[in-house]
Amino acid sequence: TKFADLELDEKVLKAVTEAGYESPTPIQEQAIPHALMGKDVLGIAQTGTGKTASFTLPMISILAQGRARARMPRSLILCPTRELAAQVAENFEIYGKYHKLSMALLIGGVSFKDQDKLIDRGVDVLIATPGRLLDHFERGKLMLTGVQVMVVDEADRMLDMGFIPDIERIFGLTPFTRQTLFFSATMAPEITRITETFLHNPVRVEV
Ligand code: AMP
Repeated sequence: TKFADLELDEKVLKAVTEAGYESPTPIQEQAIPHALMGKDVLGIAQTGTGKTASFTLPMISILAQGRARARMPRSLILCPTRELAAQVAENFEIYGKYHKLSMALLIGGVSFKDQDKLIDRGVDVLIATPGRLLDHFERGKLMLTGVQVMVVDEADRMLDMGFIPDIERIFGLTPFTRQTLFFSATMAPEITRITETFLHNPVRVEV
């Protein structure tokens, strides 16, 4: 399979080609077509498999079809740590370089003020750690009822860090009709329970 066979948005395809990627990795090859069709995906993959592109590439392609910078965030990526969130944001910028999508990175250790400004301007994608996202919500700065696509990245680390209650709460703040792309390196019983509760008929992809 080539990237060109995956029916990604053309400008995403161009960015990926320029990044020097020749062919999709197994997780990308399996997850991207389902994600593009609007299905929920449960991806079981470790870091280093190309999982970040397996959710960011379809997400950008989906967001490209709608109106940019709506009043409420249209998508959300949850990461367990600040470092991982920053990495995902870097990837998003590379793959989304030909789109005028706006992004806000909501992580701790940074003042609320700058993050507030970004949110107020209208964001297409929030890339966040659970604690900081809920801080913004509690301050009344954030509505998640416009979220069409939600990603949970490295759920197994979320579990280790005690974030599962936060994740459940955040799921509850987003519309039932959202599309969910959920990634974990392992499937502990607690993770299985979350996916059974919040994913709708997910396609399971394992590498
Ligand atoms: P990840 O598993 O998402 O952390 O990605 C691991 C590394 O692989 C990152 O540095 C990506 O830039 C790179 N990568 C992702 N997909 C591909 C691909 N299809 N071809 C070559 N490199 C890739």
